[in-house]
Amino acid sequence: MLKDSYGREISDLRVSITDRCNFRCTYCKTARGVNYVERGKLLSYEEIERLSSILVGLGIRKIRVTGGEPMLRKGLPDLISRLAGIPGVEDLALTTNGFNLYERVDVLRKAGLQRVTISLDSLRPDRFFEITRSRDFEKVLRSISAAREAGLRPVKVNCVVVRGVNDDEILDFVQFAWQQRIDVRFIEFMPIDEDEGWQREKVVTGAEILETISPHFELIPREPANSSETSKNFTFADAGGGVGLITPVSRPFCGECSRIRITADGKIRTCLFSHVEHDIKTLLRSGASDQEIADFVVEVTLKKEPGHRINEPDFRAPSRTMSYIGG
Ligand code: SAM
Repeated sequence: MLKDSYGREISDLRVSITDRCNFRCTYCKTARGVNYVERGKLLSYEEIERLSSILVGLGIRKIRVTGGEPMLRKGLPDLISRLAGIPGVEDLALTTNGFNLYERVDVLRKAGLQRVTISLDSLRPDRFFEITRSRDFEKVLRSISAAREAGLRPVKVNCVVVRGVNDDEILDFVQFAWQQRIDVRFIEFMPIDEDEGWQREKVVTGAEILETISPHFELIPREPANSSETSKNFTFADAGGGVGLITPVSRPFCGECSRIRITADGKIRTCLFSHVEHDIKTLLRSGASDQEIADFVVEVTLKKEPGHRINEPDFRAPSRTMSYIGG
């Protein structure tokens, strides 16, 4: 089992396959940033497959494909079927903004995708546009329905709650999840936005969110599927689906973190908030054997940070934001 120096077992891999995104969510990206990594500098699907397979050999069980917007990269079903074909992968998921998932969800499902998380921060078209600077609201809703109809389970909707921006929609989102029989997960706003507009006052804590919901919906706490689950989950008393609270700011879960990440340009990051990246691409392209690559990953994993330090006085945000790292 892959372990870090604090004894945490690393079983969860997030692979970013592109740093491009067609949305410009205000809490993530700046309005016009276009410093994309050139195509040749991205890991190829063959390289991602090889690396993932080595990592699965070390104990990774869960792979999430993300970005940037992963649906922008050509041939995604090919990558999904490569990853699904690695013996030992128990969970294969995708995070997307949902702009075109409805068109390709069946192909991805057939390729071996098990579940999907779709980001949606407002149920009001005008506000959706203000947050994402995209007009694809109806398409995202269509993708959520299509994911359910295609049999992906569970379908999760991620909503980043920012005070004064969309915190008045918490109950609307819960109602939406209840009607659609899906999971809505409220995420605390983290200091990892390109415009550096994060302020502690803008964070709506998980406790506040629960207080808002509880008088209106009966929620039953769900047993964690595993000790490293990042969200505190609830099911509806009277319907499928439920609510999750992801609280990296008010109740960090670093002590249970089981993740490492690979950026689209082939760097291992041992924490979302790391200041150091470890270049695995050069090794992959240098003719290194699988054993040499595995040894490198084991060594890097031992350097995993104890925590993200968001609440420490000397906290510094990482130089790359979620969209470049892979959320
Ligand atoms: N394009 C895909 C999407 O929209 O889901 C995948 C990449 S996106 C960076 C992954 C997740 O990161 C999204 O759910 C997004 O809301 C979240 N995210 C980005 N910046 C964030 C921030 N500053 N605080 C909290 N969550 C953030």
